[in-house]
Amino acid sequence: MTTEAGILDLSKSFDEELYNAFIKRYGVDFKACMQCATCVSVCPLSDIVPGMPRLDMLLAGLGLFDEIAKRLSPWICDQCMECSRHCPRKANPAKVLAALREIMTAKYDPTGITRRFIIGRAKAKTSKESGK
Ligand code: SF4
Ligand code: SF4
Repeated sequence: MTTEAGILDLSKSFDEELYNAFIKRYGVDFKACMQCATCVSVCPLSDIVPGMPRLDMLLAGLGLFDEIAKRLSPWICDQCMECSRHCPRKANPAKVLAALREIMTAKYDPTGITRRFIIGRAKAKTSKESGK
């Protein structure tokens, strides 16, 4: 979401509950990504979606799911794994794209069931790890 001046309004774009569930459920370490773009150079689909999957890593790490919803990447990624194989930081962008497909489904699902499922699974994982 952007302001009238065209500046990204982070406060309105950040979905804290879904973001926390996303991190917990998929165990992605966004700090590992150094935005080197090696993944873009090997992704066979980056000609179709510019910046794929580096830009998706950046947006997902910031929790900007509304911005990702404007991109085709989660839907056209065919999990060829080239990006993850070549990532020098083992940040596993292919896994992030697969996870984003589920997160985007949660955003589009008008019943809210997918969202509740993801958040519920993340909570169950936390309970299991804490032994409660
Ligand atoms: S995911 Fe890996 S290859 Fe892609 S920008 Fe981040 S560190 Fe570089
Ligand atoms: S797994 Fe997806 S993002 Fe990664 S290189 Fe293949 S198509 Fe591109």
